[in-house]
Amino acid sequence: MDRIVERCRFRSSYGGDFHCQDRAYHYGFCRFHFECYMRGEILANGQINEKLSDQLRRRAINFHGLRLPRETYVESSSDRKSRYP
Ligand SMILES: [Zn+2]
Repeated sequence: MDRIVERCRFRSSYGGDFHCQDRAYHYGFCRFHFECYMRGEILANGQINEKLSDQLRRRAINFHGLRLPRETYVESSSDRKSRYP
C-alpha cells in the first residue's frame, strides 16, 4: 500500500527550502513543532516567529526534523558536558 504520509509543514528559516521531515501530528505540524506553534514560536503559516529572540530556541526549532549534511550539526552537548569539572 502506498499511503501518503503527511509531513510537518514547518519551514525552516535556516536558508534554502528546508522542511521538517517528521510526520504530521496535529494541524499539519509534527508534535514538536505543534507545541512550538501553541507557544507562539511558530506562526500559522509554518514559519518561525521572528519575534522569538532566544537564539538557542530558534536553533532548536529550525533544526528539528531537518535532514542536513552531518557537518551542519554542531551539537556536541555530551562533549561539552564532559568538559565541566
Ligand atoms: Zn516538524
